[in-house]
Amino acid sequence: METSYIVRIIVYVFSWFILLAYIILRILLPILSPSRKPSPAEIQAVIDSIPGLPFLTVTPHDSTECSVCLAEFSESTDLLLRRLPCLHVFHAICIDTWFRQRLTCPFCRSELPPSSSEVHVSVI
Ligand SMILES: [Zn+2]
Ligand SMILES: [Zn+2]
Repeated sequence: METSYIVRIIVYVFSWFILLAYIILRILLPILSPSRKPSPAEIQAVIDSIPGLPFLTVTPHDSTECSVCLAEFSESTDLLLRRLPCLHVFHAICIDTWFRQRLTCPFCRSELPPSSSEVHVSVI
């Protein structure tokens, strides 16, 4: 009788512990973590810093498919590609959409260099 009461209390406390751990992991950590979505200005600065390429500039060393949409590059459909500083190539439309979530390469996860938009703003 006494033992089952103790077990019930342990199960009760344990379930609360699990619930608290879940709340901390799902709600508090994302708020406290430094990673955040890039601002539209940051996204545009990164996109502007990576010029679009026609399909013909893709070399045999490049990947043959876009890691975002997993479609193969082809001359007929891909008017504009982007080559990131890490040399990975993606459809411009796909990588621009990806950048709205995070400013990293979808393939190797390397971070895009911080925008130098302040430098470009200066009047010539
Ligand atoms: Zn794509
Ligand atoms: Zn990459």
